[in-house]
Amino acid sequence: MFPASFEYHRAASVKEALSMLRQFGDDAKLLAGGHSLVPMMKMRLATPAHLIDIGSLRELSGIREEGGKIVIGAATTHAEVETSDLVRRKLGPLAECAALIGDVQVRNRGTLGGSLAHADPAADYPAAVLALDGEVRLESESGSRTVKADGFFIDLMTTAAQPGEIVTAVSFAPLAEGAGGVYLKHRQPASGFALVGVAATVALDGKGNFKTVRVGVTGLCAKAFRAKAVESALAGKGRDAIAQAAAHVTDGADALSDIHASSEFRSELARVYTRRAIEQAAARAKG
Ligand SMILES: Cc1cc2nc3c(=O)[nH]c(=O)nc-3n(C[C@H](O)[C@H](O)[C@H](O)COP(=O)(O)OP(=O)(O)OC[C@H]3O[C@@H](n4cnc5c(N)ncnc54)[C@H](O)[C@@H]3O)c2cc1C
Repeated sequence: MFPASFEYHRAASVKEALSMLRQFGDDAKLLAGGHSLVPMMKMRLATPAHLIDIGSLRELSGIREEGGKIVIGAATTHAEVETSDLVRRKLGPLAECAALIGDVQVRNRGTLGGSLAHADPAADYPAAVLALDGEVRLESESGSRTVKADGFFIDLMTTAAQPGEIVTAVSFAPLAEGAGGVYLKHRQPASGFALVGVAATVALDGKGNFKTVRVGVTGLCAKAFRAKAVESALAGKGRDAIAQAAAHVTDGADALSDIHASSEFRSELARVYTRRAIEQAAARAKG
């Protein structure tokens, strides 16, 4: 399978990439790791006339602490996230999530920003970014803005990013001292993508009850989402409430059904993995 012909442009800076986006308009696509876009081009599901390569821009790459937050450049690869000591210590579920994406080759090329911008309903990162309350930084020629992960995923392969905007970074507050978190997924056996993936972060009070709970879910519906019905069902409660609360993950959910899993199976997976994720996050928390 070969893609339709296209012109390749290597941007020297975010500024130049933004200018090219304006110049080529709807005929252009950004290229980061190429591990979602190139397969789509080969299947002729995407036929951009111009590819603007931002994958090797240093200003989009790397992991740093900035004003109490951890900032990860959009072009940072899954492998860099997986192996970062800072991410492992302060954003554990994100490192765990990165380690479960595809295989070594995918993790060496694919990027955090590319995965979030692509918004595949079975992608892993969105669940972890939601549970860690990440913020997506967007830049356009008219300025920059920040969108909370909770408002970033709009629908199937659709995000809050507008034409002419580039995802430049994702920032996170570190997990609070004593808080616990985890990412778990049920793999689609052939592709390794998430049939369902659930990330949970929890903080417990002195009595061992839930002080804060955030649950991010991917794979179940057309877009990744925060399971707020689960979170509110657990507020102030103890671990004996987990199973009942986890069942709320499917409240109002329009579960996907395809050749890999029926909506009923995906819903059951979501309930089971939500329970397990909260149990494991609580076991890792101090309280
Ligand atoms: C064999 C295989 C197995 C995989 N398994 C998994 C898996 O288990 N779990 C999983 O989550 N993913 C999996 N993936 C997908 C992989 O993680 C991709 O790398 C990722 O989804 C996209 O990142 P990318 O950098 O490759 O983006 P690209 O493919 O370069 O781009 C994807 C889309 O995002 C846009 N884009 C890219 N960067 C930006 C940016 N900074 N700002 C705005 N728009 C941007 C592009 O224009 C394009 O539309 C797999 C892929 C393959 C090929």
